[in-house]
Amino acid sequence: MTSNVLVTGGAGYIGSHACKALSKAGFTPITFDNLSTGWADSVKFGPLEQGDLLDLTRLQEVFQKYKPIAVMHFAALSQVGESMLDPGIYWRNNVCGSLNLIEAAVASDCMRFVFSSTCATYGEQDGVTLTEDSAQHPINAYGASKRAIEDMLKSFAQSHGLKSVIFRYFNVAGADPDGEVGECHQPETHLIPLMLDAIDGKRDALTIYGTDYDTPDGTCIRDYVHVMDLVDAHVQGLSWLLEGKESTVFNLGTGTGFSVREVIDHSSAVTNKAVPIVEGVRRSGDCTRLVSGSQLARSKLGWTPKRSTLQAMITDAWRWHQTGHYDK
Ligand code: UDP
Repeated sequence: MTSNVLVTGGAGYIGSHACKALSKAGFTPITFDNLSTGWADSVKFGPLEQGDLLDLTRLQEVFQKYKPIAVMHFAALSQVGESMLDPGIYWRNNVCGSLNLIEAAVASDCMRFVFSSTCATYGEQDGVTLTEDSAQHPINAYGASKRAIEDMLKSFAQSHGLKSVIFRYFNVAGADPDGEVGECHQPETHLIPLMLDAIDGKRDALTIYGTDYDTPDGTCIRDYVHVMDLVDAHVQGLSWLLEGKESTVFNLGTGTGFSVREVIDHSSAVTNKAVPIVEGVRRSGDCTRLVSGSQLARSKLGWTPKRSTLQAMITDAWRWHQTGHYDK
């Protein structure tokens, strides 16, 4: 058996942190990435195989070459707003691409699959805390595409015995405290990096998308989890599968929600600078409140988030931001 793990999207934000965690745990991460949103220089912990999930032949070659013991599937389009403007690219890239990947894995007898899903699969749920058993009613094409992939994994489990750990992430933030990898989207759409940009003058202001939500301060509430904690859970999920345990879905969040305004206040406190803001209209596809119940990951996987305070996430993101990598 090799120690190779095929990491799709290993050149991206979460994927590159996962490669570091895998390498630290003694695995060899093989990055498969089309570099459409990732960065070749973020691939530091194993080889890079450039390729697109829509290219089945290329995928088959890579499975043949490395004989991975498992797949960690991060590669995806992941912007809620974009998915509402152009749903077709979400269905094609995320769903058709994942179908190719799953088929190539099964054909190569690579039957362990760790999948990055999302709390966006739950949709709008009247303020409840979301557990893995909550109904899934996605309200944007991004969430719908991820939900479809979850269904696909279940079909391949039934018919071919594919085993999966599905992680439904809440809002991922922060960066590797060693500064080896970090968040670098182009264009950036996520709250914390955009806020840091506004703080140091790289953009005029942060626009708050909607101040009329039914929340205490009128802005959306999200549950933020540190990327280092998130990728630790992935390594634990991989071990879970290697130990022959059953396919399972886990939420990854802290169980505490913060409003956009609260994140702004924390960012000001951490950086000791004001955040210039503009109050804007709601962004299409945004849910009012997404907060996890994540007891299952703690009790079953033994996952213990260590850095997932807003203070630590913003501190680590700010440190990375100041290195200038962000300006690629
Ligand atoms: N948000 C905002 N302004 C921005 C970007 C995001 O007000 O420029 C809000 C967004 O409406 C959501 C929260 O911040 O309520 C987190 O958004 P992000 O895009 O970071 O992650 P998502 O929740 O879409 O995965």
